[in-house]
Amino acid sequence: MSEPRTRGVAVVTGGGRGIGAACSVALARLGWDVCVGYRSDSAAADRVVRACRERGVTAAAAAADLAHPTAVTDLFAAADRLGPVTVLVNNAGVVAPAARIDEMDHARLHMMFTVNVTAAFLCAGAAVRRMSTRHGGPGGSIVNVSSAAARLGSPGTYVDYAASKGALDTMTLGLAQEVATEGIRVNGVRPGYIDTEIHASGGDPDRARRLGATVPLGRPGRAEEVAAAVAWLCTAQASYVTGAVLDVSGGR
Ligand code: NAP
Repeated sequence: MSEPRTRGVAVVTGGGRGIGAACSVALARLGWDVCVGYRSDSAAADRVVRACRERGVTAAAAAADLAHPTAVTDLFAAADRLGPVTVLVNNAGVVAPAARIDEMDHARLHMMFTVNVTAAFLCAGAAVRRMSTRHGGPGGSIVNVSSAAARLGSPGTYVDYAASKGALDTMTLGLAQEVATEGIRVNGVRPGYIDTEIHASGGDPDRARRLGATVPLGRPGRAEEVAAAVAWLCTAQASYVTGAVLDVSGGR
């Protein structure tokens, strides 16, 4: 069965760089209009918007620092200007430099859980209010970008980050059931070592390339390889998939 060309609007948090940028372009290629959320790198977000438009869809960048309480309202207001929201990719996430739990302070933990968990919950709520048939919406799909860390715990590196992703996996499980009869599927992906700039922000730019060699597939993943899984989960090809979390981690 062919997919309709107009699929509505996909909101991609952290859509300006890395995995989110690849998700934005992959969804545009499939016909979604895209709202590219970002924190501060407007040049990167604008490049993604252009790449989406080259695929023949409407796209706009939306600056919204998810550490701030009003950011989600601003982000979805920008999305609403594009059309009806039918996809949310909860992708924005932060890490912090490697530390043991006895070295973590309040500021670090507050940022980690605000951006990785609280904002993802608020975005999911905003998406459900728009997509749920219970609210008169058209249905849709939510994909949470978790991490293999949620399974592994990341001892000595960032147990806080791993726990934040564990919270996302639990949200995927619970929300999928909560909205299953309201036209919304909720799934997750757990990337492994993916070659993006997030590792530099954690103080270890070569992390994915160095550790990627240790996984069964023997290399780090590419953002596009994660995006392909995210995009598939949003399509009708995944119409009987909900509450699932797909590992995209090279066998790790
Ligand atoms: P990245 O290259 O560092 O890109 C992060 C994106 O998130 C950027 O667009 C950034 O905006 C945005 N962002 C960060 N903090 C934000 C905030 N407070 N408010 C709004 N947007 C914010 O990261 P990535 O590697 O693509 O990671 C994407 C997701 O995959 C994250 O959830 C991460 O935990 C997860 N993941 C990544 C890996 C990996 O190895 N790369 C592995 C497992 C899971 P700006 O461009 O404006 O800074």
